[in-house]
Amino acid sequence: MNMPKIILLASNNPGKIREIQSLLSDLDIEILPQGLFFKEEAEETGKTFLENALIKARHAAQLSGLPSIADDSGLEVDALGGEPGVYSARYAGPNAADHENNAKLLKAMEGLESSQRTARFRCAMVYVRSAMDANPIIAEAAWEGRILHELTGKNGFGYDPLFYVPNHACASAELPPDLKNQLSHRGQALRILMAKLISLGTENARVEL
Ligand code: IMP
Repeated sequence: MNMPKIILLASNNPGKIREIQSLLSDLDIEILPQGLFFKEEAEETGKTFLENALIKARHAAQLSGLPSIADDSGLEVDALGGEPGVYSARYAGPNAADHENNAKLLKAMEGLESSQRTARFRCAMVYVRSAMDANPIIAEAAWEGRILHELTGKNGFGYDPLFYVPNHACASAELPPDLKNQLSHRGQALRILMAKLISLGTENARVEL
């Protein structure tokens, strides 16, 4: 068996697909979005980002029959004991809009000074060869910052307008998208995963991918 030419990405986000394609451009692998194969979303019942990423990747591999990549990510705030964590997208309720999640976060952190507002985005990204793969390839990364006192910046999505990036002295929502992709939890996890895939694919273990 040779290295697969097609990998399914358990996402329909065109930005993610482009980013992964460009990282794999040397390897002649095509990344296809799950929407080409099925519509059903996996139920994210995991307690950790890694569990949820594995659920999504196995679901995608099961329904497509293809090796699959999936990620899961969210915000972890120290003063809130790690909340909203895996519930980041639904912090203010099922199907909550970004502005509702942000408003709930600001309220929960009322009265806390900058030094008490430490937080990080986390991302787990995984690759499975099949739905039953017993040895998934795993990459995890974090992006450290602080929660601002008010919404700042217009770029990005989710909690970006509340996430202060100390090394760049601005909110994540003020970073140009390319720079955010370089720095972010997702960008870091993707590069770690791709390095692992590439080393498996270019060593004699190529057949094991
Ligand atoms: P998912 O990994 O796409 O499921 O993202 C989960 C949720 O975490 C999103 O809906 C956002 O609320 C939050 N989140 C994850 N990554 C980011 C980011 O890069 N910026 C802002 N919010 C994020």
